[in-house]
Amino acid sequence: MLPKKFSSIIQKKAFEIGFDQFGICEAKLPPEKAKLLKEFITLNHHGTMNWLKNRIDQRSSPHILWPEVKTAIILGVNYRSKENPLENLAHPEYGNISIYARNRDYHTIIKGWLKHLAQYILKEAKLFTQNEQVKVFIDTAPIMEKPLAQQAGLGWQGKHTNLVSRQFGSWLFLGEILTTLEIPSFQMGSNHCGSCQKCLTICPTQAFPKPFQLDARRCISYLTIEYHGSIPIEFRKPMQNRIYGCDDCLSVCPWNRFASQTRHVKLQSRPELIAPPLMRFLQFTEDNFRSFFSGSPVKRIGHLRFIRNVLIAAGNSHEITLLPFVKKWINHENAVINETAQWAIDEF
Ligand code: SF4
Repeated sequence: MLPKKFSSIIQKKAFEIGFDQFGICEAKLPPEKAKLLKEFITLNHHGTMNWLKNRIDQRSSPHILWPEVKTAIILGVNYRSKENPLENLAHPEYGNISIYARNRDYHTIIKGWLKHLAQYILKEAKLFTQNEQVKVFIDTAPIMEKPLAQQAGLGWQGKHTNLVSRQFGSWLFLGEILTTLEIPSFQMGSNHCGSCQKCLTICPTQAFPKPFQLDARRCISYLTIEYHGSIPIEFRKPMQNRIYGCDDCLSVCPWNRFASQTRHVKLQSRPELIAPPLMRFLQFTEDNFRSFFSGSPVKRIGHLRFIRNVLIAAGNSHEITLLPFVKKWINHENAVINETAQWAIDEF
């Protein structure tokens, strides 16, 4: 086991690199976490996200994914914006894009930081031991990062199932470094939700069957980002003007009051994505979409899935000046676009 001062040295370096939170735990999750994951899959709450069930055993604990691993180092990055994402919902002629997607794709930014820190850890560890290994992950492997983050002391999994930090509220990106090094663990985070139910009651589609359980099939983030087909009718009106993701359950958490705005310029909202006019997006060709969202997480859903979401927001807006731009999408060769455009027209 490496001495405690080793943890302090790498924690200091992590903050210098750009991370805002840091924790360490044994790279092993208790069997209850695997049980919860299996229940999520058995109930079909994962919807069409089959990758969640395909490697379920590996996902249940890092030591099954990588038998030699000893320690998980969990890093958090604060992405709190100065805008309140709930405010834009009152302006239906504008689209609402989830805060995390209003600038550069965080994966590319944080992966570089993780690699930098991993190299530093190996260099420092050579003073104590040889032939150790590190691997970095940011949504790149079947790892349950939220329970690990709680175990490593970054916070706790709130009733909305996301991580909550006393310092940063619900606005944290998570990345992981797994290593064969044995490093002393931090104290596990304890739950401070108490009797609060705010994230459960604000959900526009009732996506939480009970506290600490999410039915992704009802979640607007899943529907607008992961789901490929026609969005079921029952969810279209509750979507309002949300065209990429939803931040309601994160925004309403009282622990956000302690969070400061992100210090990372590349994670602050691009001005043109704070309240983008739906009219502009309805006119986007595939080339327009690809160049406007170059380097953004939004790009990964592709032009037509994005237009599907914008058409629903346009229908919900009842803004008559949008009607001619919606009409251009009927008789589209893509059946989902065609059907969604027709639905939107009927809403005016
Ligand atoms: S909104 Fe309330 S219940 Fe939900 S995560 Fe925050 S503190 Fe917990």
